[in-house]
Amino acid sequence: MTAEASLDLRKDLVRHLRAGHPWVFRKAIEKAPKGLAAGAIVDVTEDGRFVARGYFDPHSAISVRILTRDAAEQIDAGFWRRRVARALALRRELVRDTTGYRLVHGESDGLPGVVADRYDRFAVLKLYSAGLVPHRGAIVEALRAEAEDLAGVYGRDEVPRDDDEDSAGAPQGRVLWGAEPPGRIEIFEHGMKVLVDVRKGQKTGHFLDQRENRRMVRGLARGRSEALNLFSYTGGFSVAAALGGARHVVSVDVDRDAIALARENFRANGLDPADHAFAAEDAFELLAGYKREGRRFDLVVCDPPAFAKSQKAVEAAVAGYASLNRAALAVLAPGGLLVTASCSARVTAEQFFDAVKEAAFKARVDLQLVLETRQPPDHPVSPQFREGRYLKCLVLRRVG
Ligand code: SAH
Repeated sequence: MTAEASLDLRKDLVRHLRAGHPWVFRKAIEKAPKGLAAGAIVDVTEDGRFVARGYFDPHSAISVRILTRDAAEQIDAGFWRRRVARALALRRELVRDTTGYRLVHGESDGLPGVVADRYDRFAVLKLYSAGLVPHRGAIVEALRAEAEDLAGVYGRDEVPRDDDEDSAGAPQGRVLWGAEPPGRIEIFEHGMKVLVDVRKGQKTGHFLDQRENRRMVRGLARGRSEALNLFSYTGGFSVAAALGGARHVVSVDVDRDAIALARENFRANGLDPADHAFAAEDAFELLAGYKREGRRFDLVVCDPPAFAKSQKAVEAAVAGYASLNRAALAVLAPGGLLVTASCSARVTAEQFFDAVKEAAFKARVDLQLVLETRQPPDHPVSPQFREGRYLKCLVLRRVG
């Protein structure tokens, strides 16, 4: 596809595009091109000179997402295939010992708005912009052609489907190519079995970005008697802790289906769920109750959903992390470990660290930071796209 329109922007509004940042905000555009459809290919220019080429989204605060800075590169089937192939090359080189991993991580893989996760022989595709819908067929074809041994591609879009207006709210999944995925796809992460529900589960079904941290928790759990997994989803960290030697693990999440699947995941790994506890309730209320009862844990995992969805919400998010971690520290036994994460892109590592520092001060506990991790290689970060560097995880030990 050659460009259907061009957008001329001021010099100060294209500098970040020249450097490789992939977004053109709606507010940067003076005259929105009339009648341009979602997905139209647009050239961004400065004084008529080519800067970059991307796709248009009339519904988003990001009007154009950049696909290439090469004027000669057309956005055709070959383009999507080359980009998918490039993403897969990284996974082949760097992802080991797992049958579940992210195939395509959006902006940082040169495919803005495109997420594809692989679970065994199925890819789950999630498009985060209406501008990608006209290109979906080409993306599916690229996955089919480039990913080895795929049985099917399942679609779970964030954007409403134009052909299906009354299913708002319910997960909108459908087979895009190949076989229907089973109700539970079994994957192995570093030897741990995980059952994934790609149809009804959150996001694409599983939080692959925490894989290496789950392995880390497995290693840290040895000899621990009471573990608490806050925001457990389907129990990934819980099973890891139990396999690693934690005697009793409490999993809590408001999502009932996720808690039911957490029990299945224990069973799938040869662990009896009856030896552990599962709570489909609010983590904050559970923590308040445990504090009153004086209950203590020697391992606490805290992996809440993103707190700051917008830049304005950052301050509130930092305060939220401080109070959540304070509540988690109130149930941490002396010598116990707190594994605490933040997946809010807008909250920096320093801000998160400071929130934990404040939590420790207010809870009157002394802590030692013993480990610190970021996201795994199948969630790469382009240095030009700092928004992609979202995951922070700290391991802290309560002193004496
Ligand atoms: N640690 C998980 C992923 C957690 S995602 C893993 O490794 O798989 C965040 C989870 O928090 C979601 O499952 C969501 O249902 C849950 N959640 C959101 N708000 C909550 C609350 N107030 N109390 C308990 N769980 C909550």
